[in-house]
Amino acid sequence: MSETEAETLFERIIGGEIPADVVYQDDATFAFRDIRPQARVHVLVVPRKRYRNLGELAAGDPELLARVVLAARKVAELEGVLGSGYRVVFNTDEDAGQTVFHVHAHVLGGEPLGLFGAPEED
Ligand code: 5GP
Repeated sequence: MSETEAETLFERIIGGEIPADVVYQDDATFAFRDIRPQARVHVLVVPRKRYRNLGELAAGDPELLARVVLAARKVAELEGVLGSGYRVVFNTDEDAGQTVFHVHAHVLGGEPLGLFGAPEED
């Protein structure tokens, strides 16, 4: 997928052009299940306004970043994992595996999560 295509993917999902399993939405954010779940609960929280990554969102609109974090907590509540715990991940650029350049939080949980940060095996 080219970066240009990747940049428009979540906007097309938010616009309803590409179907998604929507978990939560409000005036600032849109949350839907990841198509390739990495845990029993794996939901993406996307700000409606596009920033490329977490740093650009924080610098450009810190209030919107807070709205994304609050939406992630709301998703955890709706998915029943607020008590058991959940992880919020923002990937930035190549080594982190970012493929869609419209900032998004991965909300993961529903089971004990493994360690992370190790390089992929060949
Ligand atoms: P990233 O790798 O950029 O941090 O996360 C992008 C995520 O978007 C991946 O986990 C990937 O599985 C998910 N994804 C890619 N295309 C689609 C799609 O068409 N629908 C949904 N629901 N998720 C997608």
